[in-house]
Amino acid sequence: MFIPESLLQKEKDHVEGFAPEVAWVTHGGLSPLAERLCVRPTSETLFCDFYSKEVTSYRDLPKLYNQWCSVVRWEKETRPFLRSREFLWQEGHTAHATAEEAKERTELMLNVYARFCEEELAIPVIKGKKTEKERFAGAEATYTIEALMHDGKALQSGTSHNFGDGFAKAFGIQYTDKNNQLQYVHQTSWGITTRLIGAIIMVHGDNSGLKLPPRIAPVQCMIIPIRQKAEGVLEKASEIKDALAAAGVRVKVDETDKSPGWKFSEQEMRGIPVRVEIGPKDIENGICVVVRRDTGEKLEVSIDSLSEKIPALLEQIQKNMFETALAHREAHTYEARSYEEFCDTIQNKPGFVRAMWCGERDCEDKVKEDLSATARCMPFDNNEPIDDKCVCCGKPAKHLVIWGKAY
Ligand SMILES: [Zn+2]
Repeated sequence: MFIPESLLQKEKDHVEGFAPEVAWVTHGGLSPLAERLCVRPTSETLFCDFYSKEVTSYRDLPKLYNQWCSVVRWEKETRPFLRSREFLWQEGHTAHATAEEAKERTELMLNVYARFCEEELAIPVIKGKKTEKERFAGAEATYTIEALMHDGKALQSGTSHNFGDGFAKAFGIQYTDKNNQLQYVHQTSWGITTRLIGAIIMVHGDNSGLKLPPRIAPVQCMIIPIRQKAEGVLEKASEIKDALAAAGVRVKVDETDKSPGWKFSEQEMRGIPVRVEIGPKDIENGICVVVRRDTGEKLEVSIDSLSEKIPALLEQIQKNMFETALAHREAHTYEARSYEEFCDTIQNKPGFVRAMWCGERDCEDKVKEDLSATARCMPFDNNEPIDDKCVCCGKPAKHLVIWGKAY
C-alpha cells in the first residue's frame, strides 16, 4: 500500500503523471519518517521492484500477476462510483521476454474487458488506442474501452497498457536469454474498477431506478404474492421459487407485509430484471403475470411453464439491454468535417463525434480549451478516414478519432 518516494521517482514520466494526485504519509505515529511514503495510486513501481529481484533467467518469464486492492488518488472533485479518492480495482502486471508477447497480452486483456462489458454488463464499448496526451504515465501505448452513458458523456471503462521496456530500464529488470545475453523484460499492466458500477447505473437506469442486466443481477426474478394471506398463495409462490431455482434462476419471494404496489415499485427501483405476480385468481387459472423491468411489458405465462420461460426471458432481456444501449450510442454518434461543425456538435449534441486529427498535441489542447472535450480514442474498428484534413487545423489528417466530453 505504501511506496517509498525513491521508488516512485525511478520512472520519470510515471512520477510526473501521478505526482499531482498522490497522498503522502509523512509520519509514523508521532515521528517524522526519514523518507516519505506515497499511498499507492497504482502498483507498477512495486511490481517493478519485485521483478528486479525475482527475474534473472528466461525461465522465470513470463510473470503474470493480478491483484485486487484499493488505491488512492487525491481527486479535487469526487463523484460517486466514477471518481472517488479511494477505489477498489483489479490491476494486472506482467513481464515478458519479448515486445511481441507484451503487445499480445495488452490486446488480450483489452479484449477480455470488452467482452466482459458487452456480454455480462450489456454495455457496448469502443476499443481503441489513446493518443499520446491521454495515455498512461510511463506507457508506450494505452488501449482503452470507451462507453457512452445515457446523458451522452463518455466513460473510460477499462485500460490496458504496453510499457515496452521503459520501466525495465528504469528499474533494471533484466534476464539472461537462451544465448546467455542480458535482455530487458517487456511489461504490461491493465485494470478495471468499481467505476463500472457507475457505468451500469448510467447506461441502463431510468427514472424508476436501476435496471440490472440479468447476468449480473444478484436477484434475477422476484416473486410477488398478491393477497398473500389467502390460502395457498405463499405455498404456491414458494413452489414456483423452488422450480425456478432448480432451473438456475436467482430468485426470491417478497413475503414482507408491504403492499403489492409498494413491492412492485421497490423491485423496479432495485433493477430486478423480472417479477412474477401470483395471487389466488392466478393459481385458480394456472396463469400468472410476468413483468419485464427493461421494457415494462406484461406477459401472461402459464404457471407450469415458468421454469422454462423465465430463463429464456432473462437471456432475451440481457440481449435487449445491450441492443438498446447500442442503438442509443449509434443515435448519439456524429461526424464532423469542419471545426465549426465540430464545435456545434460537441456543444449541442451530447455524444461521440467522429472526426479526423493531424496527430498534433496543439489541436487536442485547443479542443480541450474551447470545448472541454477530449480524444477518447483512435478506434480499432470503423476507422476509415472520413476526410483528408484535421478537423481542427486543416492540416493533413493522420487518424480518425472519437471525441467527446468525459466523466
Ligand atoms: Zn490538427
